[in-house]
Amino acid sequence: MPELPEVETIRRQLREAGVNGRVIETVHVEWPRTVDPLSPAVFRKQVAGCTIERLSRHGKWLIFELDGENNLLVHLRMTGGFYLSQGTLKKGPHDRAILQLSGGLNLHFRDPRKFGRMRLGAFPNGLGPDAMEIGPRQFFQTLEKTNRGLKALLLDQSFIAGVGNIYADEALFEARLHPERRAGTLSEDEKLALYHAVTQVIQAGVRNGGTSLGDGQGNYTDLNGNSGGHGERVKVYGRAGQPCVVCGNPLSQTKVTQRTTVFCAHCQK
Ligand SMILES: [Zn+2]
Repeated sequence: MPELPEVETIRRQLREAGVNGRVIETVHVEWPRTVDPLSPAVFRKQVAGCTIERLSRHGKWLIFELDGENNLLVHLRMTGGFYLSQGTLKKGPHDRAILQLSGGLNLHFRDPRKFGRMRLGAFPNGLGPDAMEIGPRQFFQTLEKTNRGLKALLLDQSFIAGVGNIYADEALFEARLHPERRAGTLSEDEKLALYHAVTQVIQAGVRNGGTSLGDGQGNYTDLNGNSGGHGERVKVYGRAGQPCVVCGNPLSQTKVTQRTTVFCAHCQK
């Protein structure tokens, strides 16, 4: 499932492919719920003719900044992704929306499981600071307002935007903190360790082009159909029962807010 590093990788690749500055000439909606709550007709009308001025991102949302009154906000959810084609349009079997851009470039939104969404608006609602941008002071202030469990807190996009299941487990392992540890019980050193761990795992994920696990058709791939390079570097996520890279004890698995959570019961306090 794409998290911040995967969305950031796609954003950079779209920018490098020259999507910025192009006019959206024709809009095809192949799966109406992708543009929910708008109807495909209204969505087409609002988007067609706009120029993509800039590509930005906040948390897991990709933001196509348009010259009109709205921006196009895209959330990849489970299996969403983009690919490009040139010239005559050939639709792919999992394409849910296609934007035909000036210069003959076609931007395909592919999404086998159909949970991805495209919305129109200025900015995605209800998000906390971006996990790549947040400073230590802001992180501390938010942490001190709550006594929730750490894993649940990291997954809460209104606390910090962009961290999902993989990077939450990795960050808690790096900080040596138990996923169910309460925020209110952290020492100053532990808060700082958590801050550094979150920014470090997110930045490493971006550097390595994101994380792909498994090779199913819904697994994350970048704009060119390649897997991310971060998968082999994960230390706990998806490794339950395997030895901890630090102490050698088998990693434990539990559920936190219904999400599978892997941690080392020996190293994470
Ligand atoms: Zn360990």
